[in-house]
Amino acid sequence: MIIGCPKEIKPQEFRVGMTPIAAHEAVAHGHKVVIETQAGVGAGFPDEDYIAAGAEILGTAAEVFKTADMIVKVKEPQAIERKMLREGQVLFTYLHLAPDPEQTKDLLTSGCTAIAYETVTDANGGLPLLAPMSEVAGKLAPQVGAWTLQKANGGRGVLMGGVPGVGPARVVVIGGGVVGTHAARVAAGMGADVTVLDRSLARLRYLDDVFGRDFKTSYASAGNTKELVYAADMVVGAVLIPGAAAPKLVSRADLSQMKPGAALVDVAIDQGGCFETSHATTHQDPIYEVDGIMHYCVANMPGAVARTSTIALGNATMPFMLALADKGWKQACADDPHLLNGLNVHAGQLTYYAVGEALGIDV
Ligand code: NAD
Repeated sequence: MIIGCPKEIKPQEFRVGMTPIAAHEAVAHGHKVVIETQAGVGAGFPDEDYIAAGAEILGTAAEVFKTADMIVKVKEPQAIERKMLREGQVLFTYLHLAPDPEQTKDLLTSGCTAIAYETVTDANGGLPLLAPMSEVAGKLAPQVGAWTLQKANGGRGVLMGGVPGVGPARVVVIGGGVVGTHAARVAAGMGADVTVLDRSLARLRYLDDVFGRDFKTSYASAGNTKELVYAADMVVGAVLIPGAAAPKLVSRADLSQMKPGAALVDVAIDQGGCFETSHATTHQDPIYEVDGIMHYCVANMPGAVARTSTIALGNATMPFMLALADKGWKQACADDPHLLNGLNVHAGQLTYYAVGEALGIDV
């Protein structure tokens, strides 16, 4: 099979769909890999790395789309890319079709077979191609929160780990899933005093068993949440209710009870945010202040560390990409029901129930 990887064209997207390591593996499996020139440069992979891996560099995205049997990307195809997809071609990338009728219509019209990273599942009920980005965002949250807490950025002027004779920052993480666990681990590693709140007792038990020496846990009742948030220097919002908007767990009225200059890092902003005063920001202008409280609400946090994110995503997508290339999409999906769960569009037909329900299209 010929596998193609174009350069990402969505604004501020520096990741790339295939690493040189993934290209090398695909070539070793007997496939041909074509990469658009400069596709990996934002993630620190020059064309030479792909050539060394056995891939061929093409001058334009149009050539990549024309040549390849399967396109591997990061973000959903933009309008100009969707025009280049064709019947029978496989597209393997993040799609997020439910809120995007335009993209869905174009994919159906193209006749391509589109497999979405975000709906591929694993045997534990998890989402293996979303988890790496949650790990990245979780580990970044205390790092950007610590920066936000610095005086020059409008913060409280508190050092995460304190110093001898001065106590550490108090960090509260709301939601102890993938993002929350990674955020809590890093914050604890920086020496902060960390408490993780969750509604799931099973999750709190797990966290206490595994990380009980590093951070505390608390049940996320409204009362506990308020008490901990009011005393915090930093609050990380990391909740998720699958398929729903994030619940608002800190109201505007709560801000006046918090310590002036405290930092709210709303990682859940891509689901609407879990603080009432959150609105999405960008890496260029990431923080703003409301009632004396600093907010960091960047919706694509992994983009800040495009190289780490690209490699982490590549590690997770590679086995699926290889299965699709080795067996063809039909056999690969027949052999693996978790990969089949990723199938969203095939030959002009929507094949993912939740997307059809959201958009009012027959599945
Ligand atoms: P997850 O499902 O692994 O964890 C979510 C946790 O929230 C679960 O443990 C759940 O029990 C808990 N929860 C749900 N409702 C709660 C409540 N009311 N109070 C306390 N806990 C509650 O999800 P995740 O992968 O950790 O993702 C968390 C959020 O981060 C999601 O909204 C995800 O989209 C977002 N995210 C954002 C970025 C970004 O760049 N901003 C990147 C990755 C993930």
